[in-house]
Amino acid sequence: MIVLRSDEEIGSIRRAGQIVASTLAKLKRFARAGIETKELDAIAREEILKENGYPAFKDYKGFPGNICISLNEVVVHGIPSARRIKSGDIISIDIGVKFKDYFADAAITIGVGQISPEAGRLIEATEKALYAGVANARPGNRLYDISSAIQNIAESNGFSVVRSFVGHGIGLRLHEEPEIPNFGKQGSGPRLEKGMVLAIEPMVNTGTYEVEILADGWTAVTKDRKLSAHFEHTIAIRDGDAEILTEL
Ligand code: MG
Repeated sequence: MIVLRSDEEIGSIRRAGQIVASTLAKLKRFARAGIETKELDAIAREEILKENGYPAFKDYKGFPGNICISLNEVVVHGIPSARRIKSGDIISIDIGVKFKDYFADAAITIGVGQISPEAGRLIEATEKALYAGVANARPGNRLYDISSAIQNIAESNGFSVVRSFVGHGIGLRLHEEPEIPNFGKQGSGPRLEKGMVLAIEPMVNTGTYEVEILADGWTAVTKDRKLSAHFEHTIAIRDGDAEILTEL
């Protein structure tokens, strides 16, 4: 069942979303060559707690970090570590925040220093795919209208969409129904209704869409070790355009 949230509940999710957005904005400024990813993780934790939120990924199913930091060929779920970011890296930062009883979740990918033209195109196409998905999150549309819009943008740019991770409903839990694949058939799936709150999150690869999980049990990398990018917003379905809850 896909839960419909009241305006009051959406207000709480928005508050969590504002903490996610301000933390992402802060990390964007600190994500420079030479910094360790665990330093970014510590900055994020401090910022989230300062705003009276809680870093929702910490200890989620045993995840060791406060946030996920995924470099280059890492698709999602990168664990913050002593690895230093260097010029030319692309870095995906995924943050979940719990505020009071409600959750919000968002991600960005940024290039550090001089990145390759292909990396630049990948980041641009993945962000564009997210917004194409959001534009289809309207009452009366079907769930996979979001999915197919994302897939179209990614594939028309010569990239592939990851199959094994998907977007999701969100609210009183980090992951609720429905699953939102980043591929699918336009005009199919459940009908979208006002009050649904969804985390839409395309993960797009330059090579194969296949991924594998490293021995740490978390880090998901592209099977061919080519680049991957990830953008995510938590949105609420409204009367017309969706409201993005994780932007400042
Ligand atoms: Mg998510």
